[in-house]
Amino acid sequence: MRGVPLRIEIGARDLEAGVATLVRRDRAFKEEGQKRTVALAAIVAEIPGALEEIQASLFAQAKAFLESHTISTSDRVEFFRLLEERAGMIDIAWCERTECEAAVKEASSATSRNLRRPARSATCVACGEPATAQAYFAQSY
Ligand SMILES: [Zn+2]
Repeated sequence: MRGVPLRIEIGARDLEAGVATLVRRDRAFKEEGQKRTVALAAIVAEIPGALEEIQASLFAQAKAFLESHTISTSDRVEFFRLLEERAGMIDIAWCERTECEAAVKEASSATSRNLRRPARSATCVACGEPATAQAYFAQSY
């Protein structure tokens, strides 16, 4: 979803009835919760909560997307194969050494991002040196 997350529809009949329709643009057409009728007097008070719900929903979607595109491996050959296949975010134990990252980038054009501690394994999947963190490697676009 891009741009404005919430649309407010007010037609002539709505005005007569004193209502408006809040339309969540992060929901599909006719999906549950996409549209909600709100009293005009309450609409200003409704908006912050609606925006928070949208924010939470987008965050959950992004998290699910990341998780479904993340592959964890402890095998060096598989690591380089997955990078070559542009399989997504490859999660490995990593040594954090500049030379190691340069070698991975040279071989696959992938770079590290989002380091987390501690490492789940004692050795770096990419080079075999002692690992100090978990890192995602992915192609840079
Ligand atoms: Zn390494």
